[in-house]
Amino acid sequence: MSRSSTNDPDGSPARSHTLAAIVSIGDELTLGQSLDTNSRWLAQRLVERGIVPMEHLTLPDDLAGITAALQRLADDHDLILCTGGLGPTADDLTRQALAQASGDVLIEDAVSLEQIRTWFAGRGRAMPALNAVQALRPSRGSAIPNEQGTAPGIAAHISSAAGDGADCFCMPGPPREMMAMFDSHLAGLLRPPAGRTVLTRSLHTMGLGESEIAARLGDLMRRDASPLVGTTASWGMVSVRIRYEGPGPAQEAQRAIRAVEQRVRESVGQWIICEQEASLAAAAVDALRRASQTLTVVESCTAGLLGSLISEIPGASDVFAGGWITYSNRLKHSQVGVPEELLAAHGAVSAQTAAAMARGGLERGGADHCLAITGIAGPSGGSEEKPVGTVYIAHGNRHPQGQHALIDVRRFQMAGDRESIRQWSARSALAILWYALAGRADTPLLRQTVRELH
Ligand code: AMP
Ligand code: MG
Repeated sequence: MSRSSTNDPDGSPARSHTLAAIVSIGDELTLGQSLDTNSRWLAQRLVERGIVPMEHLTLPDDLAGITAALQRLADDHDLILCTGGLGPTADDLTRQALAQASGDVLIEDAVSLEQIRTWFAGRGRAMPALNAVQALRPSRGSAIPNEQGTAPGIAAHISSAAGDGADCFCMPGPPREMMAMFDSHLAGLLRPPAGRTVLTRSLHTMGLGESEIAARLGDLMRRDASPLVGTTASWGMVSVRIRYEGPGPAQEAQRAIRAVEQRVRESVGQWIICEQEASLAAAAVDALRRASQTLTVVESCTAGLLGSLISEIPGASDVFAGGWITYSNRLKHSQVGVPEELLAAHGAVSAQTAAAMARGGLERGGADHCLAITGIAGPSGGSEEKPVGTVYIAHGNRHPQGQHALIDVRRFQMAGDRESIRQWSARSALAILWYALAGRADTPLLRQTVRELH
């Protein structure tokens, strides 16, 4: 792509991209049939670079609406990132809207057309006639190659009567194509404002509620503080975000973040499990790896969710042996040897059953640790004694000398719908394991009501 395409029309050096808008285009998004994940991903990429996303917009496949939105956004922003609507069909209108908004006409880009032909040829097919439309771009704009699909991206400048206008980059909707295009071709065209640093650091805690974390952080969370400290909660994890945004150089930003991080750790350090992009499952896998120990799982109400979270981590097979989904009493008995009398006496959702599941998993799986989960995810199946959201999680740890394993069983009263209860349960099990491996098994977790050792 030629550099001049993003210069101002009069040829003066291009301005920096300071304020951005992100536009997602597609009926399937506005109608709620699929979720817009592109905006979130793009916003994060911009923030990393010190460009502030000021607005997110989701629009249906409507030419006039998209055109008007692009013109309006060019008045208020320096940068517009669009995704979607670059397909070959009649409802793919981003090309036309961009041409209209930038007062331009569409022409065929010979290089793009060749690339689309080559893409099909590589799959042993001739290019369908319909796809030729994807090679169109505004005459003053330029095409951005797409190595992952047929839709090239488009870069064009949209001028504005109100100011300098905006550089607009349109990318295909499929996330995989969009991300690859952004990383390989677009990131280098962005011009983050000079002398402005945005830096964030995230610390993830488990065990306290968001308000308890906030109370401990106190003044650190004042809205006029710099760096700014904020929290977000998700299925039992509360993340503390420290965000520096200012004119200083990167070292100054790092110093400021470190100073605040130090104070955050003094207040809630005891509950911090992992940092930045790391997940709870990654932290648990990492802790197992450092201890050279292995894990099995026995899952009832989560039915594989815990195993799935663990197996998301590359290389989990070093420490994760596998497990059992024992949804029925019959399988709890036949697969991991929970005694039938015990099931009859205490029920499938009980501390005794959870402990027996973990013990059976340890004995039959031969790993060092076993996590077992049994509970009532609802919406039906609750009783007065064991309401929906009652979940028992057992952690069995093989004794190093091969003696009788000690099983740590906790009862939780989870809140929310079936999905929340299941997700929360799987994450609580991971946290129990992590705390045990960190030598802090006594740390109580949010929604934990009872702890017993069996
Ligand atoms: P399009 O480029 O409009 O043909 O988009 C093709 C497909 O990309 C859509 O059917 C969606 O599955 C996906 N897609 C489009 N926009 C988004 C978005 N904002 N977030 C996630 N997926 C998207
Ligand atoms: Mg579409």
